[in-house]
Amino acid sequence: MELNVFMKCVNQGLKVRLYPDEDMLTKINQNIGNARFTWNKLLENYQNTYKIFKLNGYSKLKCNMATFNTMLNMLKKEHDFLYLSESSSLQQVFRDLINAFNKFFNGEGGYPRFKSKKHDKHACRIQNNHNIKINDNTIVLPKLGEVYYRTSKKYREKLKNAKINNVTIKIENGKYYAVFNIETETPDFPKTHKFVGIDLGMKTLATLDNGLKIANLDVTYEESMIKKYQKRLSNKEYQSNHYKDTQKTYWKWVDRKKNKINDYYHKITTEIVKKYDIIILEDLNIKGMFQNPHSSRKLQRIGWKKFVEMLKYKARIYGKTFRQVSRWYPSSKNCSNCGYYNKDLKLEQTQWKCPQCQKTHDRDINAGKNILKQGLIDLIDETMNLWDRGDSTVILLSWKSTSP
Ligand SMILES: [Zn+2]
Repeated sequence: MELNVFMKCVNQGLKVRLYPDEDMLTKINQNIGNARFTWNKLLENYQNTYKIFKLNGYSKLKCNMATFNTMLNMLKKEHDFLYLSESSSLQQVFRDLINAFNKFFNGEGGYPRFKSKKHDKHACRIQNNHNIKINDNTIVLPKLGEVYYRTSKKYREKLKNAKINNVTIKIENGKYYAVFNIETETPDFPKTHKFVGIDLGMKTLATLDNGLKIANLDVTYEESMIKKYQKRLSNKEYQSNHYKDTQKTYWKWVDRKKNKINDYYHKITTEIVKKYDIIILEDLNIKGMFQNPHSSRKLQRIGWKKFVEMLKYKARIYGKTFRQVSRWYPSSKNCSNCGYYNKDLKLEQTQWKCPQCQKTHDRDINAGKNILKQGLIDLIDETMNLWDRGDSTVILLSWKSTSP
């Protein structure tokens, strides 16, 4: 029997499909359009003010809530239709804009861009001020009203009992969704006292340091269908009835591929988080550094990113430790057995023998082992403040990764 199951409050995203009627559709589209309009106008205002600042010799214009709030109030006076929006959804716009600017100033992101109807995400976020209500079949949203939704029984109950912080209404491939940010009490997964290093790859999705290889999911059929309907779309007159019909089928296959991959990733990541207390991966920014920007690699990177995000948030929710090896580390070229650095190892070599200790390595498994070792060194540094690398390495050598 598991004693003392640790419960804690965690933030979680929960996505449900919405089924808006004509009236609701208009309102949602208006709200999303207003959010985009506000973003673009505020960005424009900021840029104009900045120009004046610069002319007068100031190098920086601070973005703060008060400034943007005033700008928003001025915008509302100028454009009546902004009053049709739920007011917190417009305040959210300048919070997002301030975040984007802060990221830019800290060197973590690019300069905020103007949003276009065609290329950007169609979404708006509404804060819950005790005015979002979840019924069995409908959700009541402030200002927008009541809308039908569908989800599993499990998620419906979770949603009804959770504390809702905010909800994002979004359109994806012609379908409407609500993504709730909720706080729930979640029990930790039982501790297993095992840890794992994971190497992400092109041919194999993930290789565990114990030798387990997780294959990439085969979605070639879905991809061929997506390609087929994409081609058909390009031959149709834009926004004609034929175009819209074909677009529906095209979106269906896009969704199918996405859902198939999502399900697969969810299963694997839950399994890994259940099985291991400490999960260590490579930093993806470093991983891609020396690779060509080939398009299939780019797609694989998007897949890796999703996979890593899932592991990360599940580890957080279920009380496990997740780390990414942060410093530059040649995980494939080092012998995980004796530490020998094989500088001649080629990218296409899947197996190699260490000239120093004679051990034969599978490239990916060896990488997984090195990632685990490096991650544990990082963790020890963090948790025990052992700055003397010699000491921490000695401790690590007596730790052995366990088999599945
Ligand atoms: Zn060796």
